[in-house]
Amino acid sequence: METPIQKKFFSQANQIYIKRDDLYPVSFGGNKARKAVLFFQDLKKHGSSCIVTYGSAASNHCRVIANLAAREDYPCWIVTTSVEDEETANSHMVKLFGAQYIRSPVENVHGVIEQTIHSLQKQGNTPYFIPGGGHGNIGTQAYVDVYAEIVQWEQKHNIYFDYIFHASGTGTTQAGLICGQILSGDVKRQIVGISIARPLPRGREVVENSVRDYLYTIGRELPPCNLIHLEDAYICGGYGKINQQITDTIHRVLLEDGIPLCGTYTGKAFWGMEQYLGKKKIQGKNILYIHTGGTPLFFDDLRTL
Ligand SMILES: *Cc1c(COP(=O)(O)O)cnc(C)c1O
Repeated sequence: METPIQKKFFSQANQIYIKRDDLYPVSFGGNKARKAVLFFQDLKKHGSSCIVTYGSAASNHCRVIANLAAREDYPCWIVTTSVEDEETANSHMVKLFGAQYIRSPVENVHGVIEQTIHSLQKQGNTPYFIPGGGHGNIGTQAYVDVYAEIVQWEQKHNIYFDYIFHASGTGTTQAGLICGQILSGDVKRQIVGISIARPLPRGREVVENSVRDYLYTIGRELPPCNLIHLEDAYICGGYGKINQQITDTIHRVLLEDGIPLCGTYTGKAFWGMEQYLGKKKIQGKNILYIHTGGTPLFFDDLRTL
């Protein structure tokens, strides 16, 4: 399902376009919804009877998985390290969807996941495991598809995006876009992931591994030119940490465009993109920003705007 691309009001030095993946029409949209749809197709192929996933109670990933599981009547277990702190829009919805939490100490997540899967199997179930954040080749596929959507849009509107920016977390979204770029044969444009938490060089390695993994499954290899542009200058102290400039950016984009951004992902990355363009004196280019969703986080943040 294609999402719209719209031009931002008041773009100055460059033409800024926004791909509204937040409007992807499944469970409040976003990249986790895109990935989840493919995971659910796969679990049906496997004839699985229940779902095990990993993530924090407040995550977009767990909300989407719990929502689809509830709709399609799959029991859903979420292994989580987060102790219940403040309730968020996502964690409230996960409760409404009836997913069960299994708490795990951070050091033993792998063990708890294995244990959970094993004991479900012993009870005669066939559990399907979805990695945290929808990481892995299936998640990567979702953004290979998005890249193709973007190319189609460009052809239809006779516009070429010189840069594509987006928030990068687990790196799966970025890996998918890069694989899409490799498959399309156009290595000219830059896809820039604005890291929201992971510093270099680790963040880049994770993206590269995901790209290699995916390409391997289709008998391709990573070309020698550098296609992985991960920017770690805008992490701002870590996951969920923000500064006044990010808050101001979220406020301005809401006012000018009526588009919700959040401090954790999309607002931080949008701010990072603007900083990046300014610092590198990039001008007169067509820029695509992919809005990767997380609308419930916007409503959590709204109280502090
Ligand atoms: C998870 C998430 C991201 C990061 O995507 P990755 O594929 O993990 O890099 C970006 N934006 C939002 C809103 C997210 O929920």
